[in-house]
Amino acid sequence: MIRFEKVTKFYNGGPAAVDNITLSIESGELVSIVGQSGAGKSTLLKMIFAEEQPSEGKVFFEDRDIATMNKKELNVMRRKIGAVFQDFRLLPKKTVYENIAFAMEAAGQSEENIVSDVPYVLDLVDLSEKMDNFPHELSGGEQQRIAIARAIVNQPDIVVADEPTGNLDPISAYEVVQILKKINDLGTTVILSTHNKEIIESLEERVITMDQGKITRDDKSGKYVL
Ligand code: ADP
Repeated sequence: MIRFEKVTKFYNGGPAAVDNITLSIESGELVSIVGQSGAGKSTLLKMIFAEEQPSEGKVFFEDRDIATMNKKELNVMRRKIGAVFQDFRLLPKKTVYENIAFAMEAAGQSEENIVSDVPYVLDLVDLSEKMDNFPHELSGGEQQRIAIARAIVNQPDIVVADEPTGNLDPISAYEVVQILKKINDLGTTVILSTHNKEIIESLEERVITMDQGKITRDDKSGKYVL
């Protein structure tokens, strides 16, 4: 589904942020990318939705070289990707319901679909009762679960989560990862980056370890190593 072929990324003259990475992620996988701050995790994820371009090598999405896609094709690809960020990025003046409905409106979905699907995804993240609350009335963990609900409401093929637990206490972090696991169990490919050792070990899924832009380990049912 996603393939990196000898991908290197330099930011203006610095050392390689991602250094000659070759990697395949198949449909249906749950992959954790771990490594210390600055290891290149975020850069790797950004190249998946073409927020950054490789300096060398190629990134393929469903066997298409992303660099050869035109604007329209990039938009089609991005609609297949649900993004989750460390800082949640909810709209502060909209309620939980409106935040998710807004993502559906932006994707051109009908009011009928919105009315049925928003409650469905809120139930999936166990936050149905917060529908009419504003983001600032929720804990960090709850906000992140709403951000995940928003990321999946348009039924992407893949969810890419960059440090989704970075701002959370351990219990909230555990809950967020369990929700990502549940989404993966329902058939969505999930790629997340994290430095949270215990949580990732508990998943017993694939763990890719990065250090200074390189992959230093790729464990099928992983242990986290730094
Ligand atoms: P991680 O997500 O593992 O913390 P990043 O991909 O954010 O790693 O960063 C990898 C390296 O690239 C770091 O040395 C970082 O300083 C550098 N870097 C990341 N983004 C930029 C940018 N926009 N401009 C210049 N350097 C950057």
